[in-house]
Amino acid sequence: MSKTHHISVLPGDGIGHEVMASATQVLHAVGQRIGVQFRLVPHKAGAQHYLDAGVALPEDVLRDCERADAILFGAMGLPHVRGADGTEIIPQLDLRFHFDLYAGVRPIRTFKGLPTPLASPRAAEIDLVLVRESTEGLFYARGRGQVNDDAEAFDTMKITRAGTARVCEFAFKLAEQRAQSKGRAARVTNIDKANVFASMAFWRKIFEETAARHPSIAADSAYVDAMALNLVIKPWAYDVMVTENMFGDILSDLIAALVGGMGMAPSGDIGDKHALFQPAHGTAPDIAGQGKANPTAMLLSVAMMLDWLAVRHADAALADGARLIEHAVEQVFSQGLVKPMEFGGSDGTDAITRAVLAQIVRGDAP
Ligand code: ATP
Repeated sequence: MSKTHHISVLPGDGIGHEVMASATQVLHAVGQRIGVQFRLVPHKAGAQHYLDAGVALPEDVLRDCERADAILFGAMGLPHVRGADGTEIIPQLDLRFHFDLYAGVRPIRTFKGLPTPLASPRAAEIDLVLVRESTEGLFYARGRGQVNDDAEAFDTMKITRAGTARVCEFAFKLAEQRAQSKGRAARVTNIDKANVFASMAFWRKIFEETAARHPSIAADSAYVDAMALNLVIKPWAYDVMVTENMFGDILSDLIAALVGGMGMAPSGDIGDKHALFQPAHGTAPDIAGQGKANPTAMLLSVAMMLDWLAVRHADAALADGARLIEHAVEQVFSQGLVKPMEFGGSDGTDAITRAVLAQIVRGDAP
């Protein structure tokens, strides 16, 4: 009998609940197909929990996440729930720091059957990953910002050698794995603002040192403003990209837009010991509670979790589960079985979940 995988489940706020309900159904169905048991432990946490219980991320939830094999996370935060300094309650940032989840991995690709906002037929080739450093950078300033006499404010960017080296190393390893699985040349593009800031020039130096340790992988660097342009004009030209926390936050939404919206953008927050998987989107208060959310980003995040567990536990069945989810998602869109409301279609969370489940249960081989 194989190991039962303990998964801490944090649906959170807003559409986090809706997409998580979809994810847990799909995970159970996949578990049955691949003969693997998952013990899902659901927890209350988030901005609403802060209003209800006075704490966004209770200690017992943190302890369960520490013990778990992986964490599944929906979305947290509500615009009207704020701390004394005016910033939102954002427990996902606390989790990244607490568990040292330094690599925010955001893969983006086009799906046959779904339109993209780009006119070029080459949009069909988009298949890239943004690796966002997630434990320092400008987000280091969170909770440390200083406002003096209502006249000036300071937030500090922190870039360390160790923090930069480990996330750059992660990006090169990821590029190597992708090159093997996709049969194409590995490439890492560094994104910074080294022409203006000492911190970013230091970041670039560490990137180039890391690149020198991987001579077989193509490496280049670009300024973040130029990349915002290039990612719209020729996103198919990129493979793995690595960048500072704040730049990664912004570019994550940009690359999600390239393939139709936030509902298509999965993510994994990966550390050396722990990992958390969540859609790249937020709680979407504008559509929450209406059944309109596209659960695809959440489902693809579950697939990322299975791939991560497969490596950690040397269990190929888990990777088969990841392929089952990806294949099911590809099929429901390419066959035109569903079109998410996000794309102007009429299918909400339930319809998309049912369609994906039907594919998984029917079990076409990927
Ligand atoms: P955060 O600051 O936490 O990233 P946000 O408020 O900036 O959150 P989102 O909550 O991600 O942004 O929402 C941005 C837009 O994308 C909204 O219009 C929202 O309705 C839409 N959106 C986000 N996720 C989905 C989804 N899964 N399905 C459909 N639309 C979505």
